[in-house]
Amino acid sequence: MNYYKQFSLLKSLPKKLNDFHLKNSKYPLRINNKSKDKKIYDPVTNLDKAFEKFIRNTIVKQFSEDAILGEEFLEKHSNNNYKWYIDPIDGTRAFMVGAPTWSNLIGLTHNDQPILGLVNFPALNKFYVNDQTKSYLINNKKTILRTSKETNLKKSKVIGHLHELLFFKKYNEKIKKVRSSVSYFGSATFDALNFCLLAEGKVEAVIEIKLKPFDIVPLIPIIEKAGGVVSTWNNMSAINGGNILAASNKQLHKKILKMLQDF
Ligand SMILES: [Mg+2]
Repeated sequence: MNYYKQFSLLKSLPKKLNDFHLKNSKYPLRINNKSKDKKIYDPVTNLDKAFEKFIRNTIVKQFSEDAILGEEFLEKHSNNNYKWYIDPIDGTRAFMVGAPTWSNLIGLTHNDQPILGLVNFPALNKFYVNDQTKSYLINNKKTILRTSKETNLKKSKVIGHLHELLFFKKYNEKIKKVRSSVSYFGSATFDALNFCLLAEGKVEAVIEIKLKPFDIVPLIPIIEKAGGVVSTWNNMSAINGGNILAASNKQLHKKILKMLQDF
């Protein structure tokens, strides 16, 4: 199977998305809490929605038969086994406060296998993308990505939304175990950028909780084609989201999984 057309579309998107962002950032930002439970703060901005419409329209123009699952609008169903996943702004909180770590996430699955992904950082002027053999970081140059080959836990750096993880008591014991086994366990609240740092070989693992499918699907092929492994904490496919472990190689994945798995 050849996904060259889909890859070409993904590769062409960052420039369009960055132009779109520049044009739209002139207008005031409107922020709403989209959570039905008003005790939970789940912000969405007018730009999340505008980005998603723009991305959906671009996909539909070329691949009108494919299914689309996006964060802000209703799912588009299809029977052709291709499904696009869109998180128009991953890191809405960062975006709201003017931090540059937010990104546009777009992924494609075929028969429920993640095959292509794009993570575009408009404010950092770089993007991560994969084709059928490799993953790349593209800024002013193109770098082929390789995950870390470190297999020793004691020498491994692990990052995640630590404050969120510890907020949930039931995860405390598991996270403490990981924390005491590795060289560094840091709270890096960079959303998708955490996983990109793993693909670049800068950290050995990323641990996250309660991810939605569109938060993780676009990252799976980028991590895998760079040599990494992604699964849920119970070693299932990550395409439905949930509690996620991404590690730079199989050995390390197995070691950290043992501390996170439910038995
Ligand atoms: Mg989002």
